[in-house]
Amino acid sequence: MSKFIDSFRHKGLRRKLVQEVREKGITDDSVLEAMEKLPRHYFLDSSFVEFAYQDKAFPIGSGQTISQPYTVAFQTQLMRVEKGDKILEIGTGSGYQASVLHLMGAKVFSIERQKELFVKTKAFLENLNYRVKVFFGDGYKGLPAFAPFDKIIVTCGAPFVPEMLVEQLKPGGIMIIPVGDDVQTMISVEKNMDGSIVQKEHGAFRFVPMLEKKNDGKNNKLNY
Ligand code: SAH
Repeated sequence: MSKFIDSFRHKGLRRKLVQEVREKGITDDSVLEAMEKLPRHYFLDSSFVEFAYQDKAFPIGSGQTISQPYTVAFQTQLMRVEKGDKILEIGTGSGYQASVLHLMGAKVFSIERQKELFVKTKAFLENLNYRVKVFFGDGYKGLPAFAPFDKIIVTCGAPFVPEMLVEQLKPGGIMIIPVGDDVQTMISVEKNMDGSIVQKEHGAFRFVPMLEKKNDGKNNKLNY
């Protein structure tokens, strides 16, 4: 498929995008390097390729979006990713955020509640040969069978910090989660070695909502 060609033009556009993200205040080179490597246009439908290298969120079907590159960079930087980190993502969506983490050397586990997106993105990431484990499930519950995680990243707007996710964080671990209704506050939750929790706020962002339960596509009312 033509969308899987990463041309000089794409690479040039991507370099400019990463420069733009850097100028907006992202300083972690490992994040910027991964974003410069990863062809974002692979993650959009081929008819929208020209939108891939703007610093904007974009619809990916099932009413969902691929996050804005700056937001991906911002959340990733806050996680202070180290090679070999075991990371849980809530909201697989297009798989872009998970792929950035994979290219940074993390072992990524990602949960998506929309069946259609789950099926599409799982197959797509396997095609790219990326070592990302994708699960169909409810992000509020996390993945107890694979816990604990070094880092957890939530990429949908949560109404509160789910206790089950905090429990699945290792001592010394970090969770980054946007909390709020229409507009979310980016929150970091750090678990100290003694198990105590420190929360900090990092400004306002806008995400699609974190919804409860799985959606297998059979009940249109749930089809957000
Ligand atoms: N990380 C994605 C951004 C996806 S947008 C990317 O890089 O493209 C947020 C995603 O969260 C949507 O796909 C939405 O379906 C999913 N989502 C919403 N509520 C969820 C929940 N409770 N559990 C898991 N995924 C959820």
